[in-house]
Amino acid sequence: MFDRSISPEGACVSICNHRSRQAWIAYHKAREAHADAVDAWVNAGQQGEPPAEPEMPEARFYAGDPLICARDKATVRATLLDVDELMTLRLLHGDGYESRDQNERVSRSPEPSSPSPAHDDLNELLCWLRAQEDAYRTSQRWPTVPYRGESAPALTSSVAWLATHLDSILTHPDHAAEFAVGVLAWHRRIDVAAKSKPRRRTKSRLCPQCNLATLSQMDGEDRIECRNRDCGASRGGPVVMTVEEYDALDTMAAAS
Ligand SMILES: [Zn+2]
Ligand SMILES: [Zn+2]
Repeated sequence: MFDRSISPEGACVSICNHRSRQAWIAYHKAREAHADAVDAWVNAGQQGEPPAEPEMPEARFYAGDPLICARDKATVRATLLDVDELMTLRLLHGDGYESRDQNERVSRSPEPSSPSPAHDDLNELLCWLRAQEDAYRTSQRWPTVPYRGESAPALTSSVAWLATHLDSILTHPDHAAEFAVGVLAWHRRIDVAAKSKPRRRTKSRLCPQCNLATLSQMDGEDRIECRNRDCGASRGGPVVMTVEEYDALDTMAAAS
């Protein structure tokens, strides 16, 4: 995880120095590799030029205030509050996968998947926030975290508690870095999940069987189908076609 030894004394331990830390980690690795290369070069009788030394990075570090800089503190606060909102949104709109399983009874993977990845995320997030709160409470010799339930309101109360104590958490040497980096990572994770959920898109052509604008395609699938339940009632059910077959409709329309 986070390696404090890479940063100089007084440097911000949050994200503003992420790139600098990466650059220095890479440099230290390159130096180890260089030492090995020199050994090998010596053992081989010092033929030719010695291995070139790795270049020292120019990456500089921003100062912490005292541990985390003011800008990162503000970012962590905004992100923490946004995590609550984003998660609530994700739960409200579901996963996309859920509606697909229920409505279409199509299972692409042989393993039974979780009925709701969104709820799994919520549980994991609650767990993580609770652990953070618990660790901080322990450091202050405060009573343990009260039980708040497992649902979205529990998330809101958890986030509210942490937001109230955020300034102290972000100045605590044992908790600041882990909390700041963790909140940002969680936010990214939920954001990606919320955005990447597959969506059903309506196609522009009318269904060749029922003549309604009910053809649609799920993101990432090769199948286009008519969502009109009455489509083809006397002919074995709604139209299902491949993308090629759909494109052929265009060609046929152009030819007629
Ligand atoms: Zn910073
Ligand atoms: Zn149809």
